[in-house]
Amino acid sequence: MARTELDELRKEYGDLVAVNDVSLTLNDGEFLVLLGPSGCGKSTTLRMLAGLEDPTDGEILVDGEVVNDRGPHRRDFAMVFQQIALYPHMTVRENISSPLRANGVDKDTIEDRVQRTAEMLDIGELLDRKPGALSGGQQQRVAIGRALIREPRAFLLDEPFSKLDQKLRIQLQKELKRLQEEMDVTTVFVTHDQEEAMVLADRIAVMDDGELQQVDTPEQLYRFPANEFVADFIGNPTMNFFEADVSHGTIAVDGVPYDPPEINGHLESVRRMAARPEDITPVPADDADGLVATVELVEMRGTTTYLIVDCDGKELTVLQPDEQRIGEDDHVRLEFDFENVSFFDGEGDLVRQTEHDRTETSIR
Ligand code: ADP
Repeated sequence: MARTELDELRKEYGDLVAVNDVSLTLNDGEFLVLLGPSGCGKSTTLRMLAGLEDPTDGEILVDGEVVNDRGPHRRDFAMVFQQIALYPHMTVRENISSPLRANGVDKDTIEDRVQRTAEMLDIGELLDRKPGALSGGQQQRVAIGRALIREPRAFLLDEPFSKLDQKLRIQLQKELKRLQEEMDVTTVFVTHDQEEAMVLADRIAVMDDGELQQVDTPEQLYRFPANEFVADFIGNPTMNFFEADVSHGTIAVDGVPYDPPEINGHLESVRRMAARPEDITPVPADDADGLVATVELVEMRGTTTYLIVDCDGKELTVLQPDEQRIGEDDHVRLEFDFENVSFFDGEGDLVRQTEHDRTETSIR
């Protein structure tokens, strides 16, 4: 295994900057997810790392050595794509073992590794079948097996599960995570699905419009989004956004004053606030000051129930409190957990509340 770095990596297609000076370090054995909306430059970044695309500028380093000029094979990274590409005329066994056979590995070693890989991926029963006789999920397992059998330096996956139905996708996510931990193989996984990223990643690198927005653990991204883009992209339901002005010990939320308990930090630059559904408590409307809203919809999601409320023409999603049943058409007053909300400045960047907000983290 190795430490891999992207240093100011850039890709231009004519006038289009697909990847804009991305710098990122892949730690040995970590599971890193590249996450962002379609067209933000994830695949291009991965393809440059794999050696399938030449950077316009910047460097890729493996253990401190620049590998830009090394072709895909000499980088020793294994790749799995969304489109499964197996050899249709070969059996599963032949497909999986093909990279070893191409490298002249001896028969006994091949058989040993095929067995081990098939066992890990739970495809031992399928070794003598041809790909045409497999389901989509089984085919993708075989593709993963073929990539991992040669024990690559890093494992690169580009939306490998996006064509599968949800149940299978969740199952394969779990298997991949377990396999990755067992093999301790450095992994980069591209997806536009933030839930998939949250499940799989040790760290997530969020991209937008070719630029890296934040690289952090799933928990830190969820709790301390570096900017409004990340705040809006991470979490389902999404965060609720408000205009905010913090001065003289009060916070005006969409122009309505609140007395926060105790707010630390230099918050003069705050212009906006984002609150997760669980950071807003709806209480029956009373005479107390605060934003008021009307419940439009009660939305059950498994054990959690959300209320979709209309607040002066703005739709918000808040959590149904355990102790108080609130129903459609009820009028509610909104209370905020100001210690957990996120504040942003006029540029849309996070304004820290306290020094403890962010541990081991990197913004941009
Ligand atoms: P993502 O993987 O995040 O969906 P891509 O890396 O595939 O995004 O693409 C980033 C941008 O670069 C997009 O605007 C895409 O249209 C453009 N792009 C990708 N490949 C090419 C290419 N070969 N020629 C021209 N433009 C490209």
